Amino acid sequence: MTSGVSARLLEGKIEGRVLTWDDDEYDDARAVWNAMVDRRPRMIVRCATPDDVATAIRYARDGDLEIGVRCGGHGVLGAAVPEDGLMIDLTPMGGVRVDPRRRRAWVEGGALLGALDQATQPHGLATTAGNVSHTGVGGLTLGGGMGWLARQFGLSCDNVASFEVVTAEGNMVRASAAENAELYWGLRGGGGNFGVVTEFEFQLHPMVGEALVVDLWFALDEAPAVLRGWRDLNAVAPRAATFTAWVGDMEGRPMASVGYVWIGDVEEGRRLLPPLRALGKPVMERVHETSYVELQRMDDSVEGHTFRRYWKGHYVRSLPDEAIEAFLLRGTPDGHGPYLPAASLQAYGGAIADVPDEDTAFSHRDTLFEFVSATRWSDPTEDELRIGAARRYAGSLDRFASGAYVNVLTDEGQAGVRRAYPPEKLARLTALKDTWDPQNVFHLNHNIPPTGR
Ligand code: FAD
Repeated sequence: MTSGVSARLLEGKIEGRVLTWDDDEYDDARAVWNAMVDRRPRMIVRCATPDDVATAIRYARDGDLEIGVRCGGHGVLGAAVPEDGLMIDLTPMGGVRVDPRRRRAWVEGGALLGALDQATQPHGLATTAGNVSHTGVGGLTLGGGMGWLARQFGLSCDNVASFEVVTAEGNMVRASAAENAELYWGLRGGGGNFGVVTEFEFQLHPMVGEALVVDLWFALDEAPAVLRGWRDLNAVAPRAATFTAWVGDMEGRPMASVGYVWIGDVEEGRRLLPPLRALGKPVMERVHETSYVELQRMDDSVEGHTFRRYWKGHYVRSLPDEAIEAFLLRGTPDGHGPYLPAASLQAYGGAIADVPDEDTAFSHRDTLFEFVSATRWSDPTEDELRIGAARRYAGSLDRFASGAYVNVLTDEGQAGVRRAYPPEKLARLTALKDTWDPQNVFHLNHNIPPTGR
């Protein structure tokens, strides 16, 4: 039977659609944020309901097709798109329902972060979501979910009260503190290893929605002292502030910036400005008051899915002066060079660290900063140079790293998974995988293999 014929048969059994290579929408549907990902699934099942998801899983298993699960398509590795396999495309399931009285949002498994913010903010409510509105709630939350509200309200995963999941067997289950509690533990940080989440129930928080964004840019020679001062100010910063730093090229010159994002009363937020300004002589500054919803869209990319991308990340528990030096030098002797990635530091702490580490699969809650170096380019002949530069850069910070964020892993394989979860967590996650997916049906992800596989 051709894939076209079997696709039509499958389509007859679901409410959504099945796309194959000869459908007009196929190429758009298989494109993800990282343009390096150019895989061709045999079928893309655009699921409209949890039953569609269950049917797609059973169909793939019967036909021995690898399964990829796509929400926002922002996983940098592009694991959502299986070559010659079946892609469960959750994007038609993008709805968000809010109960303002109970401060709850029910978010379908394919929703984007923007939909969550749009639905909750009119009620003066919000929950932690990432910094770019076209990222998927699915991948982000299952890996942890860091955002500007996390120091006040915890990670996205800390705000999930329950999950609705379709298992590897195609069964529908709920996971919460009261029901399938171990699965609930694993879904908060363990990624897409245990099933397809068709609904997240989020706890919401009252939030007025004012924000302040501060960035001060410095020439590279002044930057080490500035970053040291910024690190020390971070240690006493209120939870409403998330400290940020950046290094990269501006108009061909290496530059660094320090700043913070403040959510809450902006006049109070401005009080952090004088000590920051006193750290040096900024060559440029941005002090921008905005709404929370605008803040959440501020870093959206207008280029869509056109760039090739590569990321490397570390968690650090402390930021000694030598780490600042390495951050600024970007894997080079003097901070200059072609094809160098930009990089950022973002502060953790606050409510993230209030949650006992053993309470969720998400690990490394004692992180002080997350380091991410990100590079993008268009010409495939530069792949090796760009990726090599990013690896060298991250390598120069290895000795300061205490682990890594699973959602920032790219091609590290099992070594990356071991950086995301310490051994005792990995053992518990493996036992959970043995229970819920012993055949490793969901392996196109940062995989936690079941025992013996
Ligand atoms: P997808 O590629 O669709 O999914 C990634 C993987 O997650 C899939 O392969 C699958 O295994 C799993 N998955 C997704 N949805 C489901 C589901 N419903 N059920 C089961 N499994 C599922 N992270 C942060 O924490 N904070 C940020 O501010 C942040 N900003 C980012 C900005 C950009 C531009 C990008 C590209 C990434 C950002 N990230 C951030 C990282 C982000 O959390 C991960 O890339 C995440 O995997 C994206 O999820 P997605 O649903 O968009 O991706």
